[in-house]
Amino acid sequence: MNKKRIFLEHIGQTSPFPLCIEIERAEGIYMYAPDGQRYTDLVSGVSVSNVGHCHPKVVAAVKAQVEKYMHLMVYGEIIQSPQIQLAELLTEQLPHNLDSIYFVNSGTEATDAAIKLAKRVTGRYEIAAFQNSYHGSSQGSMSVLGNHDLKAPFLPIIPGCTFLRFNQWKDLQLITDKMAAVIVEPVQGEAGVIVAQNGYLKALQQRCRETGTLLIFDEIQTGFGRTGRLFRFMHEEAIPDILCCAKAMGGGMPLGAFIASKAMMQTLTHDPVLGHITTFGGHPVCCAAALAQLQILLEENWILQVEPKAELFKKLLEKHPLITEIRHAGLMMAVQMDSEEHNVRLFELLTKNGILTDQFIYNPLSFRIAPPLIITEAQIQETCELIIKCINEL
Ligand code: PLP
Repeated sequence: MNKKRIFLEHIGQTSPFPLCIEIERAEGIYMYAPDGQRYTDLVSGVSVSNVGHCHPKVVAAVKAQVEKYMHLMVYGEIIQSPQIQLAELLTEQLPHNLDSIYFVNSGTEATDAAIKLAKRVTGRYEIAAFQNSYHGSSQGSMSVLGNHDLKAPFLPIIPGCTFLRFNQWKDLQLITDKMAAVIVEPVQGEAGVIVAQNGYLKALQQRCRETGTLLIFDEIQTGFGRTGRLFRFMHEEAIPDILCCAKAMGGGMPLGAFIASKAMMQTLTHDPVLGHITTFGGHPVCCAAALAQLQILLEENWILQVEPKAELFKKLLEKHPLITEIRHAGLMMAVQMDSEEHNVRLFELLTKNGILTDQFIYNPLSFRIAPPLIITEAQIQETCELIIKCINEL
């Protein structure tokens, strides 16, 4: 059997139209097929590869850790150097109330566990979330996902979830003192990069204070430099009670976390004990990769260059008449086309021309630009010329 047939027959599929490109190796912003075809990565594995594919320092950290030890024991029992070094460096960057990190394996586990923590701390069970939000695919995260069609076949899920309209200030009054938490993406990713209006997150925090509701920021897609600060909330004065991260956190390895105050986190240790457990959470090899990546982000100036690079993309693309709008938060960008048909055909043309982009779950008019943050100005120039050429062929 050829590889494509094995892939289609024996790998569980998520849609009737998988990309089906084989990649043999990846480096920096490029992925290479076995026949040598090069793809410019404008997706970063959906906001994962922020320091590029196979960054030598990340690869070296992984190799060094693999030679010392891999899995030792379920999470939370044994002192493991990569975990504690990462926790120390990351908490140093965060506001003082976010001083305790619980490592998990993925984004959906982080949001799921954050909801559990909010229920445990407040003794309440209702949750407020937002229309068009995406927080993951397991049952807890799916309960706060703001799209009925994606959830319908899997009902019933967690009861007591209310959906507010994002950026609609008057909906903040729907947050009540019965609610354990409000969960929000500071930039709605799958809605097609919808950025919270100035002051909105602060108003949300204020309303949460009034009602004794915990504020959860899902920074799984926005975290680790993607929007021009280490986390998106750092652009604002708003500070969450619980911060969820994953994706770019692991530098290409699977790693997630929910972060809160030590006092809140301690509630998971009693009544009952083992309030949240995971075998592989905070895997030492993933933490070693994450530590190397965080050091790169903090020591080199990639994050500072995010906004000028995004502006360059915008400048080179926005004048085309078939592009109706470009929304962005740093290098988390959505390019909106004049029609869905053009957007679909453009995606095919770009792939054929060696540019890998992606569509959004809830916005059929837009395509994604979220390259590794290390993309250079010359690479942006070359990529945009190719995008314009493809649009002209529509
Ligand atoms: N939250 C946000 C904002 C996301 O974009 C995603 C994934 O796309 C998730 C949560 C879920 O993360 P994971 O796929 O690692 O479970």
